Amino acid sequence: MRSGFRLARIFGIQVRIDWSWLLILLLVTWSLGSSFGQVHPNWGPATVWGVALFAALLFFTSVLLHELAHSLVARARGIPVQSITLFLFGGVSSIQHDPDSPGVEFVMAIVGPLTSLVIGIVLLLVATPHVRVITSATSATQGLAQLGPLATILLWLGTINVVLGIFNMVPAFPLDGGRVLRSILWGISGNLRSATRWASWLGQAIAWLMIVAGIAMVFGVHIPYFGTGLLNGLWLAFIGWFLNSASSQSYQQIVVHDILEGVSVERMMRTDPPTVPPDSSLSSLVHDHVMGTDEVGFPVVEGDQLVGIVTIDDVRAIPRDEWETTTVRDVMTPFEKLITVGPNDDGAVALDRLTQNDVRQLPVVNGRFLVGLLRRRDVMQWLQAHAERFRK
Ligand SMILES: [Zn+2]
Repeated sequence: MRSGFRLARIFGIQVRIDWSWLLILLLVTWSLGSSFGQVHPNWGPATVWGVALFAALLFFTSVLLHELAHSLVARARGIPVQSITLFLFGGVSSIQHDPDSPGVEFVMAIVGPLTSLVIGIVLLLVATPHVRVITSATSATQGLAQLGPLATILLWLGTINVVLGIFNMVPAFPLDGGRVLRSILWGISGNLRSATRWASWLGQAIAWLMIVAGIAMVFGVHIPYFGTGLLNGLWLAFIGWFLNSASSQSYQQIVVHDILEGVSVERMMRTDPPTVPPDSSLSSLVHDHVMGTDEVGFPVVEGDQLVGIVTIDDVRAIPRDEWETTTVRDVMTPFEKLITVGPNDDGAVALDRLTQNDVRQLPVVNGRFLVGLLRRRDVMQWLQAHAERFRK
């Protein structure tokens, strides 16, 4: 995972905030504050910015509810959910693996946009009396100006949630709409891989349309519903670019997953990794092992038992003048906390463990006996060596 902090635990699911989210919170608050300031010249700056910040926070709460809907359905269908992260482009649920059946994927994907639509429609219904105020005024601007802070928030939040629901239903994989499309194609063809390929091609095509439309907006072209101008255009192009890379990446992941399925860890792992004894000091670890190699993690072995793993990061965390007196055992990750694989485990499972736990290597063990080490690059090298299978 990227950098950020934990916010809360909701229904046992960890909610995280990525640092990039602070940027989007700032942008949304700023953009809301400047338009509220224009529409309500009678509001003081404290009211304008207070209402803007509150509305922005409520908006991200509804994004969180959208993600919670995905996560809770996933968990109800037996798929573990690690966390929900709010970041620059909204929210993302870290769901352990894709659903095993098109029906589950369909429900899991569609429940998010449905949540946003329901929130939006309910808020707009509550705001209906205020909408009458606007429509009976001489102009929309004048009508909006008559609204108090609460009505302003209700109307904006309602509208933005409806927009969010509709945007997520755009059939651009890996957006929710693209997942819905994939589940339907998967259901019809029975072939997940070709369904993913079609959904991600469509996703990339839509992403490129967004990029082209965004650039056109920068040069003053007016796009219906999106408007025109530098900032709007750049933002649309930026979202398009993000969607394009997410789309091609998720397709590659499926392909890689597919290839690694049925390939045992044993065939990819390094069989004789350099090991270190737990009682050696950090300075001898650095001199005898770290220097002169590009290895970053070393299994710690005592007798014939694996007792832990020590990485360069563990060493770096200790001040240099304490390397002489600190032992490997003091800084290593002990066996009990290690994420390991067995030699006969599936390559796809191993890759999931590497990526989900964000570790660079997995000790391959038989009980507590170290059989080998599977590093990310071993997997990459194996894939490169067997690249012809990519083309099938
Ligand atoms: Zn969603």
